[in-house]
Amino acid sequence: MPLDSRQHATLERAAELALSFLGSLDDAPVCATASLAELRQRFSRPLPDGGVDPVTVIDELARDAAGGLLGNAGGRFYGWVIGAGLPAALAADWLTATWDQNAGLYACGPAAAVVEEVCGTWLKDVLGLPPSATFALVTGCQMAHVTCLAAARHAVLARAGWDVNRDGLAGAPSVRILTSSEVHGTTTRAAKLLGIGTANMFVLPSDSASQLTPDILRDALGRESGRPTIVVLQAGDVNCGAFDPFPELIALAHEANAWVHIDGAMGLWCNAVPELRRLLAGAEHADSWATDGHKWLNVPYDCGYAFVAHAEHHRAAMEHRASYLSHAADARDQLDWTPDHSRRARGFATYAALRELGRTGLCDLVARCCRHARDIVTRIGDLPDARAVCLPVINQGLVRFYDARPGATEEDHDKRTDKVMAGINATGEAFFTGTTWKGKRCMRVSVSSWRTTADDVDRAVAAAEQVLSVAANVGHE
Ligand SMILES: *Cc1c(COP(=O)(O)O)cnc(C)c1O
Repeated sequence: MPLDSRQHATLERAAELALSFLGSLDDAPVCATASLAELRQRFSRPLPDGGVDPVTVIDELARDAAGGLLGNAGGRFYGWVIGAGLPAALAADWLTATWDQNAGLYACGPAAAVVEEVCGTWLKDVLGLPPSATFALVTGCQMAHVTCLAAARHAVLARAGWDVNRDGLAGAPSVRILTSSEVHGTTTRAAKLLGIGTANMFVLPSDSASQLTPDILRDALGRESGRPTIVVLQAGDVNCGAFDPFPELIALAHEANAWVHIDGAMGLWCNAVPELRRLLAGAEHADSWATDGHKWLNVPYDCGYAFVAHAEHHRAAMEHRASYLSHAADARDQLDWTPDHSRRARGFATYAALRELGRTGLCDLVARCCRHARDIVTRIGDLPDARAVCLPVINQGLVRFYDARPGATEEDHDKRTDKVMAGINATGEAFFTGTTWKGKRCMRVSVSSWRTTADDVDRAVAAAEQVLSVAANVGHE
């Protein structure tokens, strides 16, 4: 076959396989059905000496992956915080791979650079961030934290008279991070990557509503008051979706000359819904913000967004110049704002997602996920021996299952919770993951998919009901 027609046949086959996969999602088990051993056995063939026909490669790839794929591209997946892919976003992602632009510089991909400029403007608008903030499209919220906290590190050290770009961290004033017990592990990883160190991260206790209180932050800021300080606040934590009280906390931090970073992986999207906007009141006064595109916006992986209120520190932390590169005079070279050098043109999928939804569609998506999350938590929590531990404020909540035997301990309830959850997942009807919250095992409920419907919610509740009734009949061995 000539080269062109082989490529044609390969892409056509991939499109067929993609459509068949998407079409199967409503009926297929949402959990993986192939074991680790099976998957290894299927994939670990010897690397061939001679090449394999590309259609065969793609056919066999899809065949071997079957059963090893989770169903998060559909509507019945409630594990971790994982979105699906909107039709236009997925299709734009296909084109992104096809166009294969290196979106590091305007010169390497003019359309990619301009689309990212527009994405930045649109995102700040829908997320309620200052129009003057600078931004970066990165691989996820993890790298958004790294980008923002690199800018923060540059700023707080510059205020202390230290040039971290030139002099590094050896001998620098020690930077500390103040945050709450709801902090996400990706902030901790960013602290490690940036040489801040986990010993300099002070995890302050949050209250019963999972919020950091002004008294606690004031106290912490007052200790070592001259020290370069970054305060990391939460807009939607992973367990209960709690938001810190931004107006009071940001004012306190700024009085103490600290930089405020907000982890809004999920929570920033609530700005799209008028009734939820109060949760974000004051968040616009922070110094940097991180969020995800691949979760609630339903852009395929990898996609996250970093925003910084102080262009000079963002740019100083990331800027890259080299004589062999072609830097644009009036366009935006993405690599001046991102931790990557060569990079995927991930703006196309974001642009497509935002256009497909529009303001109304985005509002509807966010509101709908919150409603479904509340329904799942409330309805499963109302089943016998179950309890809603955390009713969703947004799209995250917690349920715990109780061992009904007399004298059962918290540890028995922990085991029971993990067992019921595994039972629900084994039905293939819905998929949940667990957490330990305030010392207790819980089943997390996270709804982030544009595809989740009221029928999917019914199926999740029915699966839980079935597992609980079977367990009740056979006792608790
Ligand atoms: C998922 C998540 C992150 C990390 O985002 P990635 O896109 O996985 O890097 C950070 N914070 C919160 C609250 C999250 O839910």
